[in-house]
Amino acid sequence: MIEMTERIDGHTILIGLMAYPIRHSMSPTMHNNAFAKLGLNYAYLAFEVDNDSLPSAIQSIRTLDMRGSNISMPNKQKVIPLLDKLDPAAEMVGAVNTIVNDHGTLTGYTTDGTGFMQSLKDEGLDIRGQKMTLAGAGGAGTAVAIQAALDGVKEMSIFNIHDEFWDNAKRNVDIINEKTDCKATLHSIEDKDDFKKEIQDAAIYCDATGVGMKPLENETLVTDPNWFRKDMIVFDTVYAPRTTKLMQVAEQAGVEHVFNGLGMMLEQGAEAFKLWTGESMPVDYIRDLLFNDDKVASK
Ligand code: NAD
Repeated sequence: MIEMTERIDGHTILIGLMAYPIRHSMSPTMHNNAFAKLGLNYAYLAFEVDNDSLPSAIQSIRTLDMRGSNISMPNKQKVIPLLDKLDPAAEMVGAVNTIVNDHGTLTGYTTDGTGFMQSLKDEGLDIRGQKMTLAGAGGAGTAVAIQAALDGVKEMSIFNIHDEFWDNAKRNVDIINEKTDCKATLHSIEDKDDFKKEIQDAAIYCDATGVGMKPLENETLVTDPNWFRKDMIVFDTVYAPRTTKLMQVAEQAGVEHVFNGLGMMLEQGAEAFKLWTGESMPVDYIRDLLFNDDKVASK
């Protein structure tokens, strides 16, 4: 491993992470270790940027000729009008988590959805042509839904509670039906019979809500193992804790493929890494380095 003092010099290219709060993030450790492993002359730093300081922070990407930045809450939507171009998936999702700077032209991407699909591929699983039942329509749920539909999932049942994200769930269904070959439908989590039926019919059930994560770490939307089939995939986007209540219910049901969101988190980072550097992140190396114990991580 090359030490930081040997690695950083007058040619080092800067990549940022702009969000608030952000000091807890694992992304700097992930990217800097990957740069060091591959001998790439980049450095990745986290900056506390809120909605008020976002315009000048984005301008500084151009001014300082940074290669780009990750963007997280509360800036994922607010950043869009400050960019020059949007990748089509980011436009459909309506959010950006990665910016690439090509000589002053800033393009916004979203890599959470591609990270989700890639993490399934890493496990040798292909959900194209199949049905997905998805809970959640916030940042993660929207990215997962749009990318899965773009990549060829045939049918999607999107569930949400009647909270402030309900309209977004409706929007996701409409945009998928309008712009992709996937047939999407909107459902209420409160209708338990319908929820059970749609899970039982699906090749994959994905929970992209905050349920299962602090402060809801003792809760799960599915409590009955009989709702699951052994041959299906159960995917929780939560990765802290590593084994959520939902995953425990799926394991009780004997479900063969049960995942937390760690693979998705690593692969969204790897997608961004590729956009900035053109190189593949050494994902297995990073997984071993950062997540071989029970460290609690968040992006
Ligand atoms: P968000 O606030 O944008 O969306 C929250 C979603 O959860 C909404 O659909 C909301 O209706 C739903 N929800 C909230 N409380 C609920 C309840 N009690 N019952 C049912 N539904 C409820 O959040 P987000 O950024 O989309 O994050 C959602 C989850 O995805 C979090 O657990 C987060 O850790 C995870 N996530 C994982 C990754 C990854 O890379 N693995 C990336 C982003 C987010």
